[in-house]
Amino acid sequence: MSTRYVETLVTLAVMAELKAAAVFARWESGELDDEEFVALAETILWRECARGVALADVSLAAFLSASLGSTVLPLALGLPEGHTRRLRANIRATVAAGLTGESVRVLARSESLSAAQDAYTEGMRQQGIPAWTRVLNSGACELCRDLAGDVLPGDAEMYHHKGCGCTQRPILN
Ligand SMILES: [Zn+2]
Repeated sequence: MSTRYVETLVTLAVMAELKAAAVFARWESGELDDEEFVALAETILWRECARGVALADVSLAAFLSASLGSTVLPLALGLPEGHTRRLRANIRATVAAGLTGESVRVLARSESLSAAQDAYTEGMRQQGIPAWTRVLNSGACELCRDLAGDVLPGDAEMYHHKGCGCTQRPILN
């Protein structure tokens, strides 16, 4: 179940990258100016972040249902307070640093992944999960590999760097 979640999350991030890259191509061709890029990127990435939140919510419910042997419903989590403002600021910072295909892909990847990671943290908190451990994605960096295996309190936030594809696995009992 957790392996499936980590894989699905990577798929979501790749789709976010592709959609953002398409917006970048329109900017690069001169079809969009900077402000239009910001507005369109915000619309597209907001949706990808919302999908990340929904994925985390459903995956946590599925994990708990399977572990407990009884149905646990999703929490209907939403994006956190101030998400739109932070997203817009991050897009503007990316534009200010000079847009490249790579910087746009990194932005899309990190925004969609962190939305899901933060939602999973919030979900575990609401479900009263006692502890969790980090699940590495296949391309995990050295720092994340060092952190793997640690058991953290249920309400502890997960360290995640830009583009980190790690996920949390609840530890029950
Ligand atoms: Zn990581």
